[in-house]
Amino acid sequence: MKLYHLITGLLRVNTYFVVNDNGDAVVIDSGENYKKIKETEKTYGLKIKAVLLTHAHFDHSGSAKKLQDDGAKVYISKIDAPKLLNDGNLGYRFGRKFECLTADYTFEDGDTITVCGMDFKVMATPGHTDGSVCFIINDMIFSGDTLFNGCVGRTDFPSGNSADMISSVKKLFALDGNYRVYPGHDEFTTLDYERKFNLMAEYD
Ligand SMILES: [Zn+2]
Repeated sequence: MKLYHLITGLLRVNTYFVVNDNGDAVVIDSGENYKKIKETEKTYGLKIKAVLLTHAHFDHSGSAKKLQDDGAKVYISKIDAPKLLNDGNLGYRFGRKFECLTADYTFEDGDTITVCGMDFKVMATPGHTDGSVCFIINDMIFSGDTLFNGCVGRTDFPSGNSADMISSVKKLFALDGNYRVYPGHDEFTTLDYERKFNLMAEYD
């Protein structure tokens, strides 16, 4: 398994390619920049099979429709799926043209998504949106806009909730052992580092 990372769009979303030995790629938070995604696919000789979205916000999901048209299957939580079809994706609010789409698959807390022979475990982590999730595979957590290096995602957007965010981060901290954490924006981190230094580490 290989991991590629790029930064896409004005809001600098971290887009991740999780790639199996055959070059089949699962894109986590495809971001807004379709062109850059396709260039990356070509450069590394990959085949994008699926797009997994941590939540519906446009900066994470803006290119999903085009990738779906190219044949990739789009996955999102059952709770955030309607936001790909309404203003819950915040595209309108930020003056971005959003291409709406119906996800191919939806999932819920505790589900395991198997794509390209790889298993992604879904942990529901509401707070940033009510349908936000983290994806866990091996020792990696893709934490979307839930857990960041040193802080957490905003909770003041529609369907955000700060009490839920606190419980979600506690749930992540309660996992056994250390993990590499790949957030939706900014620097990578580890779960052990965040257990010590995250602003949420103070809450009990
Ligand atoms: Zn967001």
